[in-house]
Amino acid sequence: MEQSVQTRRIDGKQLAADLRERLRQRVAEAQLSPTLATILVGDDPASAVYVRSKTRAARQIGIDVRDHHLPATTSQDELHALLTRLNEDPEINGILLQLPLPAGLDEEALLDTIAPEKDVDGFHPVNLGLLLRGRPGLRPCTPAGCMDLIHHTGTSVSGKHAVVVGRSNIVGKPVALMLLAEHATVTICHSRTPDLPDQVRAADIVVAAAGRPNMIQGDWIKPGAIVIDVGINRLDDGSLVGDVDFDAAQGRAAWITPVPGGVGPMTIAHLMQNTVEAFCRQTSSG
Ligand code: NAD
Repeated sequence: MEQSVQTRRIDGKQLAADLRERLRQRVAEAQLSPTLATILVGDDPASAVYVRSKTRAARQIGIDVRDHHLPATTSQDELHALLTRLNEDPEINGILLQLPLPAGLDEEALLDTIAPEKDVDGFHPVNLGLLLRGRPGLRPCTPAGCMDLIHHTGTSVSGKHAVVVGRSNIVGKPVALMLLAEHATVTICHSRTPDLPDQVRAADIVVAAAGRPNMIQGDWIKPGAIVIDVGINRLDDGSLVGDVDFDAAQGRAAWITPVPGGVGPMTIAHLMQNTVEAFCRQTSSG
């Protein structure tokens, strides 16, 4: 019989609070004045909540925020014009275009419009290309948060077998590149991977980003593995769960992130870090 492992929870809420506090001190001490422009199109309640949390976090750090709330009827051309204006505005250091956009708008084309040096989400092809090449650039926030959570365990990524479940451009692919950059052997799984349980069973580090509630079961987890659960899934009863069956992972995983309170807060903290970085690069300060 396999021995039970003591499972420790990685407190993303606390780590994110620590990162935000470090940023607040840096902004205050170096008298930095970063400004973030947020764009929310339409009335999706979840998107409105996300923008509000980002705005609140920014203001607490000392980042000025210019909110742009536009009607769902906004056209592609109008959004393109706004992004171009913000790109050219020297007072704006970071631009956040809240996704998803209402149907009919071309998200990809609009994200491409954002100036790479103001792309604080790190989604622009130039920033993703810099990540691929291992060069400095604005990194996507959720993957960067995942890496912080892994580092917090004190385990070296080098030589470990990491399995990433999900291959989206915003989570799965970039986190796989970040793990690779730290010398993990990386497997990327997705909806057409035929033997997902066996792939996950081989993992020293699992990053779950499929958006499937409780999909990863306890007996898929290698005893002693680090489990980073990116998934945010709302069940019919209103509760939020991740992609990993958290209860079943107890006694198997050495470390696991909870949902909520794991990756989510780290994403927002990294958005703040990118905004401060963008300001420093644009003004050669800090
Ligand atoms: P996505 O829908 O763009 O991608 C999901 C990926 O999972 C796809 O590559 C797909 O192939 C794979 N997949 C789907 N079903 C699968 C299955 N049964 N087996 C294996 N792979 C499967 O999603 P996304 O934007 O990458 O987000 C993934 C999850 O992470 C969602 O729950 C989302 O809400 C959450 N998320 C959280 C944060 C955060 O800050 N915590 C940020 C972004 C996304």
